[in-house]
Amino acid sequence: MSKVLIIGAGGVGRVVAYKCAMQPQIFSEICLASRTESKCKEIAKDVQRELNYQTISTAQINADVVSEVVDLMERFKPVIVINVALPYQDLPIMEACLKVGVNYLDTANYEPKDEAKFEYSWQWRLHDSFKEKGLTAILGCGFDPGVTGVFTARAAKHIFDEIHYLDIVDCNAGDHGKAFATNFNPEINIREITQKGKFYENGQWVETEPHEISAMINYPDIGPKKSYLIYHEELESLVKNYPSIKRARFWMTFGDEYLTHLRVIQNIGMAGIEPVEFKGQKIIPLEFLKAVLPDPGDLGSGYTGQTSIGCRIKGVKDGRSKTYYIWNNCHHEEAFKETKTQGVSYTTGVPASLGAELFLKGIWQTPGVWNVENFNPDPFLDLIGERGLPWNEEIDIDLEL
Ligand code: NDP
Repeated sequence: MSKVLIIGAGGVGRVVAYKCAMQPQIFSEICLASRTESKCKEIAKDVQRELNYQTISTAQINADVVSEVVDLMERFKPVIVINVALPYQDLPIMEACLKVGVNYLDTANYEPKDEAKFEYSWQWRLHDSFKEKGLTAILGCGFDPGVTGVFTARAAKHIFDEIHYLDIVDCNAGDHGKAFATNFNPEINIREITQKGKFYENGQWVETEPHEISAMINYPDIGPKKSYLIYHEELESLVKNYPSIKRARFWMTFGDEYLTHLRVIQNIGMAGIEPVEFKGQKIIPLEFLKAVLPDPGDLGSGYTGQTSIGCRIKGVKDGRSKTYYIWNNCHHEEAFKETKTQGVSYTTGVPASLGAELFLKGIWQTPGVWNVENFNPDPFLDLIGERGLPWNEEIDIDLEL
């Protein structure tokens, strides 16, 4: 019986609130806090009505300000905070955790606001401080990063003696009916996919122009989709934690229409993160763009199709070459039926709440700052299907890539 503080009331925050409320024996009380409290109240009302979970409260908070997070934590006294606000808030929330003595979990690594650059180093630096205080921080516990790390951990534990080649393949074959929309926070999403591509090969990072490398990849129940090599944050921790990896890449599908919109957005300067003067006020073009794009949390109604995300791995076992594919497919419509939001928020929120559950059960509980692959993958994979994201695996198949 434990209190959980959820920070962030977007699409992912909604799913986390629902999923925690569905396990009242684990999460006895929830406080949902965010910048705009009305969004928290709307989610809380749905949770109370649809799940008959009454011990949910809401709060207004600016999580960029450590003292505000500290005050809320001192009032509510959570055992763990699930941070599903934006990556900019990771460090202030972690700092507050250290001050008050609260455990931590997030789904995206820290990124400074004034530089489109994300990496784990800032958060890994807090390892000793968390360890000394006996607190656990679980980083990147969404789907990718998150389940992809757990999938890799399963491969390393049960399938291979050594992992040599890792390809994470992420397909969204859904249709939301809008001309252009992003499936999670537009600002973060556009910063992520307009940057240069990068993959790891033979001990080095190789940089590519944005979307320079592409391949047709066959996704289960979906078929072939053009997929682009992009840099994704879990590559950083996975090559560190599995030093036998010779090459690690991340592939994501984008439609032609999506890429055309993205190119125009960039060409006209709307993806910029430098402030510009507008009617006597400084505005950041990308923040303004976010204000006019569809809210990813509202895309769910009428969203059809499915996502498919998994790991394709080659390596050796008992001196013999082996291939392995492990994946999940998630239907947008089913996600919407359950939580009133689309599949990308769902595939992120379900693992986040399960990570927190395993922490509270004492299973994923080791003082320090950790990535998901540092924990035992078995209890997580035993439960994730029941929680809404069943997975499949195949051994010794032709992997295309
Ligand atoms: P949204 O933009 O829909 O929601 C973010 C929420 O955080 C909003 O409610 C927003 O408030 C709130 N917020 C922003 N700034 C602050 C602040 N300073 N203080 C308090 N609250 C704040 O994003 P999503 O729900 O789509 O995504 C949430 C997180 O999940 C992101 O970090 C994203 O990168 C991550 N993610 C991870 C994935 C994975 O697989 N690992 C996949 C998809 C997303 P307001 O409503 O006022 O704007």
